[in-house]
Amino acid sequence: MIPPNGVVLVTGAGGFIGGHLVASLQRRGVTHLRAVDMKPLDRWYQRLPGVENIQADLREPAQCQRLVEGAGWVFNLAADMGGMGFIESHKAECMLSVLINTNLLVAARDAGVNRYFFASSACVYKAERQDRADVTALREEDAYPAMPEDGYGWEKLFGERLCRHFSEDFGLDTRVARYHNVYGPLGTWEGGREKAPAAVCRKVAEAKLRGGSEIEIWGDGEQTRSFTFIDDCVEGTIRILMGNSSDPLNLGSSELVSINQLVSMVEDIADIRLRRVYDLDAPRGVRGRNSDNARIMQELGWAPSTSLRTGMERTFTWIYDQISSGHRDRALPASGRHGG
Ligand code: NAD
Repeated sequence: MIPPNGVVLVTGAGGFIGGHLVASLQRRGVTHLRAVDMKPLDRWYQRLPGVENIQADLREPAQCQRLVEGAGWVFNLAADMGGMGFIESHKAECMLSVLINTNLLVAARDAGVNRYFFASSACVYKAERQDRADVTALREEDAYPAMPEDGYGWEKLFGERLCRHFSEDFGLDTRVARYHNVYGPLGTWEGGREKAPAAVCRKVAEAKLRGGSEIEIWGDGEQTRSFTFIDDCVEGTIRILMGNSSDPLNLGSSELVSINQLVSMVEDIADIRLRRVYDLDAPRGVRGRNSDNARIMQELGWAPSTSLRTGMERTFTWIYDQISSGHRDRALPASGRHGG
């Protein structure tokens, strides 16, 4: 990898994917990394030596201008978001992330940034294409005519369009990835913002450690998803930034599973069997979703390949260790935590 002249800015760096991205860029030889997040530094999942770690609120235009100074590449991963339980009940908060991307794009244009990456989401796809469990995988063009997930999905689709028009009208070179359900160690696993893979690992690990015999599942468990392991997400993010496609690309695994199958897999990993209790009133999102990877293969000759089993083994082990050593989710405020 050839690092650009100047600084590489990663926003949302105190979060799950941003933290892994900073670590990976550092391992690949990027020497001047600027990592930014609004969370206090002691709540970042990863805070690496040799990196400029800065706490700042990117909804403020002046902060964006200050932070893009000298930057060659900008990876914008900052957003107020969480799993289905969070995005269904915090639509305005999710949409306010539009301020982050807008202010960063303006600042990047004015500072002459070389490449700008925006982390979009599979939530830009319309629900009517995701109403069956045996879903046809989503192709990039399926996002239009637009009817994304209310709140969060609209913000992401607007963010994508903004990138496109900054590229067309102002010549800022933008890249967009549509992430599909990313999971792995060093991310959110409790507190209400966690997603299905982390929530299932936590529930199974708690049952294993505390002698529980039941697991609560949101919906009937037959809803399907594909889940993308963090290493693939980071690899794809860097490849997309360095690639030539300014159109949005799916960045997701194409290994489709139901939530019931995901639970069985984690039970196997933990060597335990639990009685399933289905909460049919809980938020459950679309019925089925998968990533069509034809375009990313065509553009980059690469697509995510880590098997769900391999990724879930690593995720379960990490969450099990967190719980058994008395740690709480790092992103939670200090009053909601004990231990490290
Ligand atoms: P995360 O919540 O762990 O990280 C996002 C970070 O952004 C948080 O640490 C948060 O404090 C920070 N942030 C929020 N508002 C900010 C502000 N105003 N100023 C500065 N920082 C701010 O989430 P993640 O899973 O690492 O997701 C990273 C990006 O990828 C997000 O844009 C998200 O929407 C997108 N995405 C993630 C997934 C997934 O499955 N994890 C799927 C689709 C899209």
